[in-house]
Amino acid sequence: MLEKMAAAGMDIVRLNMSHGDHESAAQVIKSIKTLNRKIDFPIAILMDTQGPEIRTGDLVKELELKNGAVISITIRDSVNVEETSFHIHYDDLIETVKVGDRITVDNGIINLEVLEKHSDGLMSCRVIDGGILKSKRHVNLPGIRVNLPAITKKDRADILFAIEHELDFIALSFVREAADVRELRALMGDKAGKMKIIAKIEDQSGVNNLEEIIAEADGIMVARGDLGVEINVAELPNVQRRIARLCAEQGKRVIVATHLLESMIENPIPTRAEVTDVANAIYEEVDAVMLSGETTVGKYPVRCVEQLVAIASATEKTQGLEFTRNLICRDDKQHLALTAVNLAESLGAMGIIVITRRGYMADYITNCHPQNTRIYAFTNDSQTRRRLMLNRNLSPFRTAFSSDPEKTLQTTFNVLKKRAGLTAGDKVVVISDVLAGSGIDAIQIRTLP
Ligand code: PEP
Repeated sequence: MLEKMAAAGMDIVRLNMSHGDHESAAQVIKSIKTLNRKIDFPIAILMDTQGPEIRTGDLVKELELKNGAVISITIRDSVNVEETSFHIHYDDLIETVKVGDRITVDNGIINLEVLEKHSDGLMSCRVIDGGILKSKRHVNLPGIRVNLPAITKKDRADILFAIEHELDFIALSFVREAADVRELRALMGDKAGKMKIIAKIEDQSGVNNLEEIIAEADGIMVARGDLGVEINVAELPNVQRRIARLCAEQGKRVIVATHLLESMIENPIPTRAEVTDVANAIYEEVDAVMLSGETTVGKYPVRCVEQLVAIASATEKTQGLEFTRNLICRDDKQHLALTAVNLAESLGAMGIIVITRRGYMADYITNCHPQNTRIYAFTNDSQTRRRLMLNRNLSPFRTAFSSDPEKTLQTTFNVLKKRAGLTAGDKVVVISDVLAGSGIDAIQIRTLP
């Protein structure tokens, strides 16, 4: 299935550590590494931490919660959870909530109101929106700051596992402030190599501290599943747009996640509203759109990937995208990259060739959101190549660098003719942070021989 999804256009696989263990994750990693040896462009791997997430306990059998019923919730494992009560695994739950607060279970499907708090680790709640409760459902306490560490003990073990396996991205769940990202960077230290940090924005604190979080992270995930429960869902499109705009300004990557093709979990075609939602993310010039349930438990994982590719390709043809050139150039290399992009566009160049070791110049070019021209990044490093799969409008290639820069360039021209459909006579703009020796940048206009 991974192979089929890769062939359909999947660029990145997410390992969601809320589910599965190291053994199952290792199996996926192994499959992807094997797959990467035979496909044209590698699949990158993103590990998504569970984070300070709260879940309901195990149930012997499903519990029917009827509208208006009064039920009890316990934080004590020892309490017998039969018919009218269930566990929520969060020790500070009773101190954290107030009478009248809302507790949301299973991504907003079941809603409860706190009626009374008792001293023995129990509280009673009224069922506002009932439903069938299954084991280990996700719990949100909208608007309440959860007293759990940004990086839990489990997250630490998972992050070390990601480092050991040289994964490409860590998506940190429930980032509430920039300090959470700094904590992850400190934990990763030098061991992390070239792994990039994606901060997941999932609650009001994350939204309140957006600017500082974006400044600290390498990219942002608009985690609409939790965000849509934690904040007023009507504000979600505004928040998504604001994140896309701020990331375009700050030159950071953006991933839009959750419910993109939700109906395709069951159906072979998306709803019109879903198609429009995906297109809107593309109009917002985000780097990636992410599937979750559609490709884990859904009936049509491959069709979902094909559908995203089809919508993205159709939408990208549209001109005059408003997010282009929101970028604030903060350093000389970014100015240089913008010059290369302007040059490529005014020339009508067929591509921008970036020669880069760690991918920095490829990021600077991506940050400029070039229109009508594709970015072709050439690196001599496999991990850099993989993580560049996230960058919008960019095809990454791996090539050995010659001590003679001209030889390296000729190699890139050959690759583009063989693998990207470019032909002799096509104009390209070349930019590099290695070509002319360390620290010297160069922009050239070249015609493919
Ligand atoms: C989300 O909440 O939208 C999300 C992507 O996070 P998770 O799938 O880990 O709940």
